[in-house]
Amino acid sequence: MFVRTYQKKKILLLGVGSLLLLISLFGRLVYLMVAKSDYYAAMAQELHERERDIKAARGRILDRNGIALADNKTVCTVSVIYSQMEDREAVIDMLCKELGLTEEYVRKRVEKYSARERIKSNVDKEIGDRIRAYDMAGVKVDEDYKRYYPYGMLASKVLGFTGSDNQGIIGLEVTYEEYLSGTPGKILTVTDAKGIELQREGERREEPIAGEDLTISLDLNIQNYAMQLASQAYDTKQADNVMILVMNPNNGEIYACVNWPEFDLNNPYELTDIWNTKLTGGNTQDNLNKMWRNGCINDTYEPGSTFKIITAAAGLEEGVVKPEDTFSCPGFIMVEDRRIRCHKTTGHGHISFVEGTQVSCNPTFITIGQRLGVEKYYAYFEQFGLKTKTGIDLPGESRTIVHQMENMGPVELATMSFGQSFQITPIQLLTTVSSIINGGNRVTPHLAIKSEGVDGTTVFEYPVTEGIVSEETSATMRDILESVVSEGGGKNGKVEGYLVGGKTATSQTLPRGNGKYIASFIGFAPADDPQVIAIAIITHPKGVYYGGQIAAPIVRQLFENVLPYLEEKEYN
Ligand SMILES: [Zn+2]
Repeated sequence: MFVRTYQKKKILLLGVGSLLLLISLFGRLVYLMVAKSDYYAAMAQELHERERDIKAARGRILDRNGIALADNKTVCTVSVIYSQMEDREAVIDMLCKELGLTEEYVRKRVEKYSARERIKSNVDKEIGDRIRAYDMAGVKVDEDYKRYYPYGMLASKVLGFTGSDNQGIIGLEVTYEEYLSGTPGKILTVTDAKGIELQREGERREEPIAGEDLTISLDLNIQNYAMQLASQAYDTKQADNVMILVMNPNNGEIYACVNWPEFDLNNPYELTDIWNTKLTGGNTQDNLNKMWRNGCINDTYEPGSTFKIITAAAGLEEGVVKPEDTFSCPGFIMVEDRRIRCHKTTGHGHISFVEGTQVSCNPTFITIGQRLGVEKYYAYFEQFGLKTKTGIDLPGESRTIVHQMENMGPVELATMSFGQSFQITPIQLLTTVSSIINGGNRVTPHLAIKSEGVDGTTVFEYPVTEGIVSEETSATMRDILESVVSEGGGKNGKVEGYLVGGKTATSQTLPRGNGKYIASFIGFAPADDPQVIAIAIITHPKGVYYGGQIAAPIVRQLFENVLPYLEEKEYN
């Protein structure tokens, strides 16, 4: 009872208190609205607070040796303030002359009654300085940043570029937006009703915070060299495109990623000559999207014989084949009622598994597929990570396109065993082969290493899945693939003084019989202790189209330069 009475009193007190407070607040409101209304209205008319953003400098993108691949250039934004201009005609003349704009365009903006009208942004600093030197009333020149790519086309599809508000549009510029973008600052100025900035009223500035510098695994020299090789092959083979990926197979760091033709990062909305002749018809945006596309990651293809590496590793790991096992190839193999040909129509005769790999004999690999059976083959496909994405830190990675297991019959199994009837991305193939030859660890291919800013450093870490295959299977695969280069179809991949392992492929693109091919070679070195792995893919070459003849020499030339360079750099 006692307690309850006490509470009642408390509630009553609270109620009365609140009511009094309300009355007093209401009173104050009435006072402000009625008595002081003129005063506030006048104030509002006289003073406006205006807010302008100060762009933050975007973080740079640096190669692994600290060389800036994406940087900022100081540019200017030129605007006019209507009420401050004294001689509008003189302003129009000067702006037309300095900015190379038409009189109509400039006049429309100079004569527009507005507080601040932007005439042009991204103006070169020199021109901005010149305009400032005229010292004309009402003409404002603000400094600003513009993204600048010192190497133009280099790694265009990897780095990406930014839009008018400095935001990433494609590539790493998108993936690492939150690290690169920084925080814009503010300028708060007080103006009068006519929009005149009252300088003396005090300008409040909140300084911008610059974006963080992103260090990536790309090596400028390797990227540059790979780009040269790709462009040469593109020209001599009149190909549709040439892709080259170079990676550290032990940790997934990408040293180079080329998809020639590339485009100029400083003019990303201009279809370069090469693209203008390639892309006829279609609207501009579609064509730009095609130009920007990174086939190494965004597109899938039928890998063909390079995929025999995966079938071989699955067979060895499951114990259904040993290197010395013998196979018989009469030039074809019957699968149900289908006769599937070997590329050597006269047949390879009796050969060992190692020899079958060296000459890339289809019946040999179809037999291994049959010994595994659909369920086991499919299980290895999944175990090797082929059904998921690699997780590379670039936007728009494509998934593997493959039959559902329940739709896989003996024919599908046979064609998959030698790399046909499904599609994967080049990065997926490179990653899977890395895990097979590096001791059995599936690494995540990636570019970003660290991000550094005023708040400290973020070091990026990437998942590794161990035990894709055993150490033993991995070692056997390294030996077999070394013999493909030293004795078999990959001999054009041989590098003086180094052991190279690898596999060639020549696949026909659909529809079959259209005479269009994809030639490729995947190679790694040194074969007994791989430090680098690379894939070269030539899409629709003219003339000779065999992977061993046109793609293997690209990787050979690449390795001839890169292997001594890597020894010197000690990247591991
Ligand atoms: Zn054969």
